[in-house]
Amino acid sequence: MTRTESPDIAHIARPYLYGGEEAAIASALSAGQYNHGALTEEFEQRIAAFLGVPDVVAVASGTAALHVALLAAGVGPGHEVLVPSFTFCATVQAIVATGARPRFIEVDPGTCCVEAAEVLGALTPDTRAVMPVLYGGRAVDLAPARPALDEQGVTVVEDAAQAFGSWQQERRVGATGVVTCFSFGPVKNLTCGLGGAIVPRTPMEADAYRQLRGLGIIDSAARRAETTTYTVDGFGMRVQMSPLNAAVGLVQLDHFAEAETRRRALWRAYAAALDGVGGVVLVDADVEHTVPPMCAVRVLDGRRDEVFRALRKRGIGVGVHYPPNHTQPAFAQWHRPLPLTERLGREVMTLPFHQHLTEADARHAADELRQVLAAGAGR
Ligand SMILES: *Cc1c(COP(=O)(O)O)cnc(C)c1O
Repeated sequence: MTRTESPDIAHIARPYLYGGEEAAIASALSAGQYNHGALTEEFEQRIAAFLGVPDVVAVASGTAALHVALLAAGVGPGHEVLVPSFTFCATVQAIVATGARPRFIEVDPGTCCVEAAEVLGALTPDTRAVMPVLYGGRAVDLAPARPALDEQGVTVVEDAAQAFGSWQQERRVGATGVVTCFSFGPVKNLTCGLGGAIVPRTPMEADAYRQLRGLGIIDSAARRAETTTYTVDGFGMRVQMSPLNAAVGLVQLDHFAEAETRRRALWRAYAAALDGVGGVVLVDADVEHTVPPMCAVRVLDGRRDEVFRALRKRGIGVGVHYPPNHTQPAFAQWHRPLPLTERLGREVMTLPFHQHLTEADARHAADELRQVLAAGAGR
């Protein structure tokens, strides 16, 4: 019997600090710029260098990144955006915020990610954008659909909220030539406290993002310090990334190699411990290329809710990512039958996953899961 004293196992997810974040915030606080400032711009440049791209635009959250990217792509009322129902509700709210309609699509049950064929099959004359969700940090390659999407002027906006640091072949996610949105929320691979970023495809696109995130003003902090006026070039929201958050992110980025190693090791520990356990199937994260933010399994035979409750009772912090969006009351008007997604909604369960956990913790949680499955089997 594996035992752990770790209280961390009761948490499905928890922010992880490397040390240094508090001092960085204190110093940003006394510097006195809280809306947008030099630290935000330094964070953008450091993230761009990490990804291997010319520019990155930081914003207040992953949701704001998706909203800004869709607005800049010209998405609005009368348009349709293809999106998997099997995602965090933020993806869908970002579409609704533009005035466009979400058109919900299925995912592959083995990966919980969308495939090119599903996207092609769901295109309508109103489709203006497609939002692949990089579920569990796994890269999604829509290359086979690109000719048809390009021909119709459909923009691909990746929801890579969970995929910071992951790879698509030999490039980092974000460096593959599509508009990519990251989240740096509390329990993502890298946290700023709250935050997000968009990778633009062109300098013009970067300007559009900067205008939209900062009240319609695109001048840099340095330039504005030198002039007596500013220019409002168009519509804009106030969804900048605060230098206080950028300060946290800069410290986290210095330690990102540790996140990569630890998260992959944890995921592999779960995979090894669950190998051959009946009644449960791992959602494949392609861990060779992925920096996993979570570990998802499918609990078969209609037992998910029972297993979930039993594990919670045993102090194992399991979760559900995600209840499908097409069955949510807020999105009822866009409901269409999605049998694969509905089944995933009944089967998927996520295991405790964060950098406070050790591989022994993962083995312990997997062992508890195995015991719960065996106890209930064949009743
Ligand atoms: C976290 C997350 C978001 C939203 O990011 P925030 O920074 O919390 O706004 C969007 N989509 C997915 C798939 C996420 O996991």
